[in-house]
Amino acid sequence: MNEIQGIGIGQGVAAGPVIRMAEPLPEPVDRPSHLDAAREEERAKASLAVVADELQRRGARAGGAAKDVLEAQAMMAEDPTLITDVVARLAEGKTAERAVYEAFASFRELLAGMGGYLGERAADLDDVSQRVVAHLLKVPAPGVPDPGHPFVLVARDLAPADTAVLDLEQVLALVTIDGGPTSHTAILAREQSIVAVVGAADAASLADGDQVLVDAEHDVVVVAPDEARLAEARERIAARKLAAEAPVTPGALADGTAVPLLANLGSVAGAAEALRLGAEGVGLFRTEFLFLDAERAPSITEQQEQYTKLLTEFAGKKVVVRVLDAGADKPLAFLNDAEEENPALGLRGIRALRHSETILREQLTALAAADAATEAELWVMAPMIATVEETRYFTALATELGIRTAGVMVEVPAAALLADRVLGACAFASIGTNDLTQYTMAADRLLGTVAQLQSPWHPAVLRLIEEVGAAGARTGTPVGICGEAAADPLLAVVLVGLGATSLSMSPSALADVRASLARYGLDDARAIARAALAAEGAADAKQAAVTAAASATAAREGAP
Ligand code: PEP
Ligand code: MG
Repeated sequence: MNEIQGIGIGQGVAAGPVIRMAEPLPEPVDRPSHLDAAREEERAKASLAVVADELQRRGARAGGAAKDVLEAQAMMAEDPTLITDVVARLAEGKTAERAVYEAFASFRELLAGMGGYLGERAADLDDVSQRVVAHLLKVPAPGVPDPGHPFVLVARDLAPADTAVLDLEQVLALVTIDGGPTSHTAILAREQSIVAVVGAADAASLADGDQVLVDAEHDVVVVAPDEARLAEARERIAARKLAAEAPVTPGALADGTAVPLLANLGSVAGAAEALRLGAEGVGLFRTEFLFLDAERAPSITEQQEQYTKLLTEFAGKKVVVRVLDAGADKPLAFLNDAEEENPALGLRGIRALRHSETILREQLTALAAADAATEAELWVMAPMIATVEETRYFTALATELGIRTAGVMVEVPAAALLADRVLGACAFASIGTNDLTQYTMAADRLLGTVAQLQSPWHPAVLRLIEEVGAAGARTGTPVGICGEAAADPLLAVVLVGLGATSLSMSPSALADVRASLARYGLDDARAIARAALAAEGAADAKQAAVTAAASATAAREGAP
């Protein structure tokens, strides 16, 4: 048995044979074609048509959001401007493979230069280009394989188009060589409850047919697992199934301490599922996700309509809405126009909104109007707050425009370090552990190369959370958690031990977290948190928490 380290997403475990995703094709050589241009044109057009057709068919089969992604890709393969460009390159004597490659690459440059949503579509173009070149070369298309039996997919990373069409009946687990815990693959895996280990560099050595056990809870991929290991995994799978079927009660510790469990949402569409899974409200509504494609700021009426729908779904419950968090990984065309060398450190979040205050005023106005027309309990918070002065600015403006409960996100270390003063100037705080980890560890959350530094288990991150929790207790201010950390069942216990008063997560994580909290009392949670805080690094902290949790459980069960 050999173990490959990575970063587990969620708590799942699954075993099966490896199938590797085909590596991207090499760049076609730029050499003169031995065929005439008319023949090459026929070849290129035929392959473009076949790929367009295939993408359409896959889209129709997949349905939902995947259908849109795949249909958009099919349209790329049929785009007349692109085809004209391919033909022009063929007239220069190039091969069909090279002409297709170059035409798509030049279009890609154009899109990538536009940044934001269109920039992200650039990766989809690469995927189409590779499919066409593979068809021309008569080699297997890159992308998700279809071996006809369940398998563990091992890939460098997945393109958005691949993740959108994963057949969850067949893909038992995902292992990626690149990609960090907040990469597209990780977020999708968490949303769809796919067992995944990302950033597992040594998985590059795995071959088709190797038997592996993917253990997300323990951040490893076990190669050729023995029977004992497999039996233990089967037990865990059965226990998780039981937890998922358990009645959806409100979140609470074993001693009855209430820990409301809330949902992270990016659109109203996820509301019904979140409620079904027992969300007691919304802890983070990412409003910027509603307007990623918008060229200009949405009107008050347009926004009010969306917010009213959301608040209506959650009538009688708490809903925490975050004002637009634009910039870095999610730029909005109407808020981020500056060219910045380091956008994660630039005019983003509250800074961008303050720079365009009319947009912020309009959003707060729309939220207040939706609140007045509905029965939910609306709380509104600002992202990327770094100073007490920014806190005062935001809460004053929100109050002026009719927001009853205004708070801030704590995701910049400066705000955590001065938490007593920041919390003294607002009604609540919510800790964004994704960015708090990124800024504490100086590790870009989008980069696989620094994925090992992006763990919220790091005691430096935990210590900052402790500062905020303690300030919350002193000032009587609620402190929620809304980063991915809250979705990790054991870390969730640690966070409560550090003073978090509510936890918000992808709805798919609610059952595991609910079951985990119910195993410990508040004293246990505090002891587990102390053990993690005393560690040297992220892995030690997690291990220390596992050990402390086991002794708490043993004490509870009256074992020696
Ligand atoms: C965070 O940073 O933890 C957070 C919840 O916000 P986002 O992931 O949207 O930046
Ligand atoms: Mg954030």
